[in-house]
Amino acid sequence: MTDTSKSTLMAHQVLDSIRNVTGPGKIPLHEPVFIGNEWEYLKECLDSTFVSSIGSFVDRLAVDLQDYTGASYAIPMVNGTAALHMALISIGVSAGDEVLMPALTFVATANAATYCGAVPHFIDAEDRSLGVDATKLEEYLEAISEQRQGKCINKQTGRVIRALIVMHTFGHPSDLEKCIRLAENYNITLVEDAAESLGSLYRGRHTGTFGKVSALSFNGNKTITTGGGGAILTNDREVASKALHLSTTAKVGHEWEYKHDAVGYNYRMPNLNAALGCAQMEKLDELVEGQRALYRLYEREFSSNDKIKLFTEPEGCKSNYWLQSLILTEKNDSLREEILKVTNGDGVMCRPVWKLMHQLPPFRDCPRMTLDCAQSLAARIINIPSSPVLAKTA
Ligand SMILES: *Cc1c(COP(=O)(O)O)cnc(C)c1O
Repeated sequence: MTDTSKSTLMAHQVLDSIRNVTGPGKIPLHEPVFIGNEWEYLKECLDSTFVSSIGSFVDRLAVDLQDYTGASYAIPMVNGTAALHMALISIGVSAGDEVLMPALTFVATANAATYCGAVPHFIDAEDRSLGVDATKLEEYLEAISEQRQGKCINKQTGRVIRALIVMHTFGHPSDLEKCIRLAENYNITLVEDAAESLGSLYRGRHTGTFGKVSALSFNGNKTITTGGGGAILTNDREVASKALHLSTTAKVGHEWEYKHDAVGYNYRMPNLNAALGCAQMEKLDELVEGQRALYRLYEREFSSNDKIKLFTEPEGCKSNYWLQSLILTEKNDSLREEILKVTNGDGVMCRPVWKLMHQLPPFRDCPRMTLDCAQSLAARIINIPSSPVLAKTA
């Protein structure tokens, strides 16, 4: 057989394995599920006329998120990107700072730092979690940074390295223990981009509660959705009150005066979206269980495939399995294009991972370490249909 027909055959095997789980028809990558009180709460919201950012569902969603995650404070926002932006501002990230973050992430992570006038600084990934490689980062910081007056300074650029954002890729928790220790040792503030990991636990504790502050997303393709939406989580009272104040136009409390004591943002989540969120929160455990059950179904299909591996949650973690991921073995990365062509051609929506941040025009000149693992992973990851309902139809 020629190489082309071999890879076509392999791609069709992958398609068959996925189809064994999804059944026939057009299969999206991740679709929202509305099986609870969504209609009821939305109607209640409309009937009340409180559809904007003041309303009981916004307060209730905050409490639901606090109860679920164990965070002391949750603040719903218009989307995950805005939540990340507020998170960074509220810990003091400002113009001229550097913010460490994985090169393997969704563009929102880098955008949020840039909105603050800060410079993203890209870190390599590790195979085990698909998140930042803390061991490699430590060696790197040892070489390029120095401590000055309790601050971590990049010796090459002279800028303050203010924060480290870890991102829990596809819902799989990063190596938080090492990242926490490293952030402490180097006087860098730890932030979690937990946009993908609502429902994921690291050693029994919810992701998003380890950093000084974290951001969640409730976009339409995430584990739960509010249409568009996100939230900040933090255990720090000052961070919470700063984020709340700045995200509500920095308005100073008064019965009728319009007084604003800073350049604020209009980032609070509207009540209409929060109504949807409250209904979704009631089903969160069920949705996570669906995503985890889907993993087990795919695992049966792919366990004997020696060219491609289904990614499994890291040790000590309970992942929400937001996006199921196939990873081609190193010798087989050339099969990716053919698999994407064959699966998408048949109506099974599969996607490569995001282009690495340093390859995007706005971030080309940002500082970075060598990104060998991220580069290798980016060439080999394929996300396959991940809606929790697929576990039921199988
Ligand atoms: C979805 C996502 C965001 C941003 O969320 P939006 O609600 O779409 O703004 C941020 N970071 C990561 C890693 C994401 O996957």
